[in-house]
Order: sequence, then structure tokens, then C-alpha cells
Amino acid sequence: MIVQEVINYLEELAPIAYAEDFDNVGLLLGNKNAQVSGILVTLDTLETVVDEAIAQNCNLIVSFHPIVFKGLKKITGKTYVERTVLKAIKNDIAIYAVHTALDNALKGVNDIICNTLGLSNKKILIPQKGTIKKLTTYIPSANAQALRAQLFKAGAGNIGNYDNCSFNSEGVGTYRGNENSNPILGKKGEEHQECETQISVTFNKHIESKLLNTLFKYHPYEEVAFEVTSLDNYNQNIGIGMIGELESKQETEVFLNFVKQKMNVSCIKHSKLIKDKISKVAVLGGSGSFAISAAKASGADVFITSDLKYHDFFSAENDIILADIGHYESEQFTKNFLVDYLSKKITNFAVVLSTTNTNPVKYL
Ligand SMILES: [Zn+2]
Repeated sequence: MIVQEVINYLEELAPIAYAEDFDNVGLLLGNKNAQVSGILVTLDTLETVVDEAIAQNCNLIVSFHPIVFKGLKKITGKTYVERTVLKAIKNDIAIYAVHTALDNALKGVNDIICNTLGLSNKKILIPQKGTIKKLTTYIPSANAQALRAQLFKAGAGNIGNYDNCSFNSEGVGTYRGNENSNPILGKKGEEHQECETQISVTFNKHIESKLLNTLFKYHPYEEVAFEVTSLDNYNQNIGIGMIGELESKQETEVFLNFVKQKMNVSCIKHSKLIKDKISKVAVLGGSGSFAISAAKASGADVFITSDLKYHDFFSAENDIILADIGHYESEQFTKNFLVDYLSKKITNFAVVLSTTNTNPVKYL
């Protein structure tokens, strides 16, 4: 198996098209056509993690955070980033980072936190805009059912908890082919009328080329009439943060202790405990201060995230409890999840969970 095949699996889970603009995700280092000897999965790529990859005979590191974030102007070994990159290059080790592509995925970082806390009725906290497109095409009615099935198979027609969604209307299409044409219905040089079905389906933008290839493959006409339009709708399946509900209300302190235990944290920094009981929970792995207002608007009783500053805690007001569980702690299970995911897809070599604790924050 080559690096690109592993990337294809990762992209199925967390398409790079939905990573944040500020981010640096994807293959950061290495050759996509290189044969993979083994994969090491980590939250952060540090020099010690590269050492671990060498010892484990892994020439691909799948990392949550990107080691190269801002851009490197010199690689002299002066900083930990430069030293890590140098060591990886010297040892022919590729590095792939998922970061916000996995933050924004439906089955990503925040789904993992929700599952760890046993939350149900999960929904994305901040759904992305500008990621849904619509395909409309016109096809002889006799062929409509077969094409629809192929478009669904290619990933179109998913809305929230529903799949196979489409709108269809019957009408009459007309065309006349010139001397170079070869119409499957009608004769060249003569106007033809055909009973056609107009099919409209929505799809996530990253599958556009795959969907158009499917359309051209299964549409019987020589020239396929179609339109692709971009929609402004929020995407219920892509976005950052998540809200979910506890099976039954829990006393606030009982719940926070439960979070400590489940998320393996030694302390939680929190705002005033303004609620006696917790039912609705908002979560956002990593730095989440930008999502405080969204968490409040969602009606959540508590917002579990990290990297909150002193003044962020004031903004809880009397609406919500803000709980900072630590950046590493909030994302730590992501690496276990990636190992499980890749292990199911790849059986011919090892997918290894890094045992290096890369958390730079220590507690007394
Ligand atoms: Zn992070």
C-alpha cells in the first residue's frame, strides 16, 4: 500500500475541503507514492514521536496537529519544529495532519467527546455554510431510476438523518443534433421531443468530480444537460463543535466529576455553577472560546472546551457554565479513534498508537 491509499481512507473520514482556511492539513512531508511500512498515530508530531516511528518501523506518521503550521523559512534545527522536520526527512518518514478537517467532520473530534460522555441526539454546534451544492439534470424518464440510484451511491442526496433525497419532475425535452452528432434517441438533423425527468439532488462539494463522472457514465445521452449550483444553506453534517443530551439530568457537580473521570483530567477550570442540573451539553475539542456565543445560543447548560482566557469566563454570564478541561485532554482520544478507523481499513501492516504523551502542559 502506498501513502496515497492511506490518504484516501483519511479523506473519506475527514475531507480536506472542510478544513479551516487558517489551517495546514494534508500530507505535510514525504512522497505520496512511497510504499508504507507502518503507520504511527499521534496527537502531535515531536522529535520523540519520530524516534518512536523509527523504532516501530513506521514510515508514515498520521498526526492530529500539523507540525508545520505557519510555514518554515529556515530548517537549521534551531526550533523543535525544525528539528522534528529534519529528523523526519533524514529518516524518510512522511507526515500527514488531519486537524480541522477532522474537527469539522461528522464522525470527528467532537463526536468522539460526545460518545465518551454518552450523549445522544447529537447535532453539529456550528454547521458550515457554502459546502452544499445542487446537481440538476434531465434524462429520458425510462432511465431516471437507474441514474438516481447511481447518484445516491456516489454520495448525493444526504440531508441530516435522511438519504436518497431527490426532487423529480416530468417534462418534455427537445433537441436537434448536427451532422456530427450520434443521438441515441431521434435522428440527426431532426428536432426530437422526449419525455424526460428532471432530477435534482444536493451533495457535499468535495464529491463534485466523482458525482459528475457518475452522471456522465450512467446518462445515456451523447451530450448531458446538467447544472451545478452552490447553495447558501448550512450543512448539518459538516462543522465544528457538537451538542448532545444526557440520558437523564445530572446534578452539576456530579456531571463535572463524571467528565473528569471520563476525559481523564486532573482538574477542570469552570465558571460559576449557575445551574443545579445538567441536561444539554455543548462540546468543542481544542481551543473553543470563539464558540461560546454559539454554545449559549444552542441552549446548552454547559460548554466543555479548552484554552479559555480569564475574560472568557465572564462571558458565561447567567446563561451557561463554561468548563475548560485542557487542550490535550479534550483531543486525546482522537488518536485512539484514528487507530481504530485505520486498522479496520488496513490489514496488511500495523497501525500503531503512539505511547508518547505529547501534552506540553503539566499540573502539580
Ligand atoms: Zn488542538
